[in-house]
Amino acid sequence: MSEVLNYIPSWELILFAAIFGTMWGSFANVVIVRWPRELSVVSPPSHCFSCGAPIKWYDNIPVISYLVLRGRCRNCKTGYSPRYALVELASGIMAGVIMLLSINSTKELSAATLAVFFIWFTFALSLIIIAMIDLEHYLIPDVIALPGIIIGVLANTFILKLGYVEPIVSAVVGYASIRLLFIDGYKLLRGRPGMGLGDAKLMAMIGAFLGYEGALFAIFAGAFQGTVIGIVMVIARRRDGNLNEPVFEEELKSSEEVIDDDPESEEDSEDSKGLDEVDIPLMKARVPFGPFLALGAIEYLFIGDWFLSQYTNFIAKLIYGI
Ligand SMILES: [Zn+2]
Repeated sequence: MSEVLNYIPSWELILFAAIFGTMWGSFANVVIVRWPRELSVVSPPSHCFSCGAPIKWYDNIPVISYLVLRGRCRNCKTGYSPRYALVELASGIMAGVIMLLSINSTKELSAATLAVFFIWFTFALSLIIIAMIDLEHYLIPDVIALPGIIIGVLANTFILKLGYVEPIVSAVVGYASIRLLFIDGYKLLRGRPGMGLGDAKLMAMIGAFLGYEGALFAIFAGAFQGTVIGIVMVIARRRDGNLNEPVFEEELKSSEEVIDDDPESEEDSEDSKGLDEVDIPLMKARVPFGPFLALGAIEYLFIGDWFLSQYTNFIAKLIYGI
């Protein structure tokens, strides 16, 4: 998208987009909770995971209901994770910014603007869902990543600027490099894969939407931020005295233990079906790199052009002293 604002849209439109975004954020929450447990995302309607009381429409208003009820169920007062409101808020902010950038990239408000908006918002919302599911379950759903690759190529072919060659090449190269370097190659060296096939498919989806610059940005920005957070976590854990505990493996173990537990005792098993009944094409990764890859892709969407122009200027100055 463009780095300079050519056209200042009305604030009402941005607000409308943001509200639209929070509503889809609310739907994203349902997918994040129910999809990995193989439950329908349309029925039953939202209900309290603790007391089972149905959530009335006026208590289900994105972000606002969370604030009004102070994050608790109206019926039983059980506290909900702030994650729900944060996903809604993030989706709303992203939708507002994407609307702004879409109007700017099409120079005016037209049907093309809305098409661009829907494409980028679908991409961003899919990344949020993938990141949240990967954080909790260490898996990346094929059902989002695989259609995502096709939608990215089609969107670039017919509506966005990249055409079809670059997205296809970026998707294939992105998939192959993760697979060869971080799965097969890593396994040869360390005896276990460093990433899951899900990460490779997510990389392909990001390449299909963002092309090679975006794919490169996402992997480097993601790896950098993932490393920083990983180091912080290791330091925090070492302070707790577990000197030799590998951070992520320990978490993986505890997430596997959950599977053996009685599902009712788990805090967020809102639904009756336990995790042990999940039989989906799991793409287990030792380290959840997916959330950082998704973060890098969203960052590229918002500041990629600006960052790359700053970066090129910086390199030019370094080399030619201009
Ligand atoms: Zn309740």
